[in-house]
Amino acid sequence: MTATHSTRMLILGSGPAGLSAAIYAARAGMAPIVLQGIQPGGQLTITTDVENYPGFADVIQGPWLMEQMQRQAEHVGARMMWDTIVEVDFSKRPFRLVGDSGTVYEGDTVVIATGAQARWLGLPSELKLQGKGVSACATCDGFFYRGKKVAVIGGGNTAVEEAIYMTNHSPDVTLIHRRDSLRAEKILQDRLFAHPRIKVLWNKEVAEFVGGGDPEGLVALSLRDTVTGEVSSLDVDGGFVAIGHSPATDLFRGHIALDSDGYIAVEPGSTRTSVAGVFACGDVMDKVYRQAVTAAGTGCMAALDAERFLAHADFEAKATVAA
Ligand SMILES: Cc1cc2nc3c(=O)[nH]c(=O)nc-3n(C[C@H](O)[C@H](O)[C@H](O)COP(=O)(O)OP(=O)(O)OC[C@H]3O[C@@H](n4cnc5c(N)ncnc54)[C@H](O)[C@@H]3O)c2cc1C
Repeated sequence: MTATHSTRMLILGSGPAGLSAAIYAARAGMAPIVLQGIQPGGQLTITTDVENYPGFADVIQGPWLMEQMQRQAEHVGARMMWDTIVEVDFSKRPFRLVGDSGTVYEGDTVVIATGAQARWLGLPSELKLQGKGVSACATCDGFFYRGKKVAVIGGGNTAVEEAIYMTNHSPDVTLIHRRDSLRAEKILQDRLFAHPRIKVLWNKEVAEFVGGGDPEGLVALSLRDTVTGEVSSLDVDGGFVAIGHSPATDLFRGHIALDSDGYIAVEPGSTRTSVAGVFACGDVMDKVYRQAVTAAGTGCMAALDAERFLAHADFEAKATVAA
């Protein structure tokens, strides 16, 4: 027989957004259920040093931070379930969701915190050197490359912003793009081209991230010219892949409003989505900041928004009965 779990607040995702929502919801007496998905703890579990999450004077490890958040959520009463949602029905309350285990979850409210994955080039050497010189987040890892030579790969707004950001740390930034013009907004391009510490390599793609040293780290990029096919090498200490993110929203398409980039659309200044009672927080609704602390902040907002929604709905229901 199929199991069914019911809760006042169903939280999809166990990254900083989902777990922060869980902490606030549990402390508000909502007895939330957190569906952990295929990556319990979220993206920070695949990184090592985290230096920008407030509250820790020393460098902490991403997996450790997420373990602490989960324990804190459980300590205040959130229930973790290892399941991934594959089907949603937001047409009526309680909302009905189905996990890939076949288990049915019913929630008076739903908080979506399924995150957004960075897009990678897909090279084996890129995977091997992730966290050892290869990164997809300059804001997160740029500080580790103070005084070092770095390359940013991509041609859109993110790549240009990351290249400009990296000049705060690096005296020598190269933007590598596989075409002969950028897709980024003109104003960003103007700032990029005017910057004395940034140079651009046109019509080049990364053929390989080259490792070296002991312990092994990135030492160079092997580049292929997209016009001539010629192969060259560029010595770098850091390589930032900035070719965009994919929000984990396929599941919600047709059930809830998404923006033109596929992120969940929320009312400005809130976590309210197009469906009353469904809220979104973290990277799945934020294509600008994409940080653990902002995800945690919007997770808190989602729990508060959901709690207020329920308080209002309960009051209305009682008033209807009394009438
Ligand atoms: C390598 C790396 C290093 C980083 N370093 C830093 C750093 O130093 N500092 C910093 O502030 N930020 C850093 N970030 C960014 C930070 O990790 C993200 O901004 C943050 O994790 C976003 O949190 P989130 O909760 O929105 O989503 P995520 O952390 O992406 O979590 C998403 C969650 O949703 C779950 N999920 C997805 N689909 C489903 C589904 N269908 N059903 C149920 N659950 C589902 C997943 O299993 C996961 O638990 C880094 C990111 C990466 C990739």
